[in-house]
Amino acid sequence: MKMKSLQFYAPLDVRYEEVEIKDPKEGEVQVKIESALTCGTDVKTYKRGHPVLIKKVPSPFGHEFSGVISKVGKNVQGFNVGDRVVAANSAPCFECCYCKRGEYNLCENLEFLNGAYSQYINIPKNIVKRNLLHLPDDLDFDRAAFAEPLANVVHGIDKTEIKNGESVGVIGLGPIGLMFVKLAKLKGARVIAAGRNPLKLKLAKEFGGADAIVDLNKYKHPQQIFKDFSEDKKGLDIAIECVGLPEVWEQMFLYVRKGGKIHFFGGCSSGSKVTFDTQKIHYEQIKLISVFHHTPKYFREALRLIYEENLPVEKLITDTLPLERAEEGLIKQMNGRAVKVLIKP
Ligand SMILES: [Zn+2]
Ligand SMILES: [Zn+2]
Repeated sequence: MKMKSLQFYAPLDVRYEEVEIKDPKEGEVQVKIESALTCGTDVKTYKRGHPVLIKKVPSPFGHEFSGVISKVGKNVQGFNVGDRVVAANSAPCFECCYCKRGEYNLCENLEFLNGAYSQYINIPKNIVKRNLLHLPDDLDFDRAAFAEPLANVVHGIDKTEIKNGESVGVIGLGPIGLMFVKLAKLKGARVIAAGRNPLKLKLAKEFGGADAIVDLNKYKHPQQIFKDFSEDKKGLDIAIECVGLPEVWEQMFLYVRKGGKIHFFGGCSSGSKVTFDTQKIHYEQIKLISVFHHTPKYFREALRLIYEENLPVEKLITDTLPLERAEEGLIKQMNGRAVKVLIKP
């Protein structure tokens, strides 16, 4: 069977093509994609490639999607043609040493699924088994497609262990940063959001419910603003980095109080080095944390938040484009003129 698909060939070279899609193998299902979303990771990949997500080219591209099952392979249980579903872009094996310790996001056998910017996608057996979820009848596809990106943030928030009333700064307001603002508010934090892009600063208030925002174009050294925002004027209880640049990682030490916590959520390009004053960690007892990716538990929790808590994720969609114009969406997001672009095959 032939389908239309956006294929990644090289940085800045993606092509909208007709490609072959095979029937699902044993344990697999085929999903007709209804909604896909662009993602900061896809934008990074578009710009410079990706060593983990894209191993050989041409490769299918995109990883946030929801849709309807169109074909079912042999020996699949619990899923039928016509079911409305959302899938995560990976699943842990439950067998390696990390999975046995419950550290599922560090699984040695995570295989990343690409191909959301297509008409159809085959879901590998392991994801069908662990990370393919049915959608409630009244949850629309556009909102459901947020389950994967949100799962990363649900994981991040859980490990941050925010207490009610704590002052939290979120630095970097891409879709992930904006979701951190929202979930930190749900944990009862007072949140200050810092970024440069007017569109995203506005969403930090309208979507995230931030108590205060800082425009980093105006304030290059916002440490005093963070101090003034904190309860005792000593610095933030918690600062969350959602940019992924070494220079921003280093600045984070200026933003938190003694005994505070820094969460480095934004991944820098591999090989990046940072330096910091050891006194900050020893005498000032600043705690450092960092988490990667998600686990089946957080993926389920993300879908629950979208549906049961009615998280207004759709506010992050700034543009809707047909599949043949998906590249335009990536470019728009790369240039900071879009937050999330909804792609409709
Ligand atoms: Zn993503
Ligand atoms: Zn594993």
